[in-house]
Amino acid sequence: MSNAGPQSAVVRFDLPDLASMRKFGYFLGTLLKSGDVVALNGDLGAGKTTLTQAIASGLRIKDDVTSPTFTLIQEYSGKIPMFHIDPYRLTDNSEMYDIGLEDYFERDGIIVIEWADKILDFLPDKRLNICIDIPAHSDTEEQRILTLEGEGELYITLVNPLEKKYPEIAQRRTARANS
Ligand code: ADP
Ligand code: MG
Repeated sequence: MSNAGPQSAVVRFDLPDLASMRKFGYFLGTLLKSGDVVALNGDLGAGKTTLTQAIASGLRIKDDVTSPTFTLIQEYSGKIPMFHIDPYRLTDNSEMYDIGLEDYFERDGIIVIEWADKILDFLPDKRLNICIDIPAHSDTEEQRILTLEGEGELYITLVNPLEKKYPEIAQRRTARANS
């Protein structure tokens, strides 16, 4: 029997509360390797910065991670450096050239981007996409749905270990047909 295989899976995680989001992000942080790019999307208040903070804790970053609102990129040192990009207030994409965004992708470190869709053209194809949704009809204020999308090696090193760690909240969304 053949199924779609793990090459481009989309996996949904149904996180019940803030504490589970923090654990999830922490574990993701422990899995990340230099060169990994994490692209976050989701509405204001969905939890992109919160997830970035949790990832940073998994990377043993000691400094407080805040929204780099006026700097676009904030650099943190830990087990591996983390570059946190937040283009929320970006009005002109040329600013991304001005700060030399491309150079960050060549550097030793992990890149986490909030509002990734705003600068999609600048991002490498090889990235872990995470979309955070607040369910419309939820009994609690803290429930979040995370949709992770990572192909090939990113699936194997990041998404699949998360699936295995949290089988009770993970749900495979696509079984893409081979073509
Ligand atoms: P964003 O960066 O996406 O705008 P933030 O992380 O700054 O969002 O804010 C998310 C807010 O929602 C925080 O105040 C956080 O405490 C709250 N929150 C409640 N439940 C969760 C959860 N499960 N995950 C993330 N944030 C949560
Ligand atoms: Mg934010």
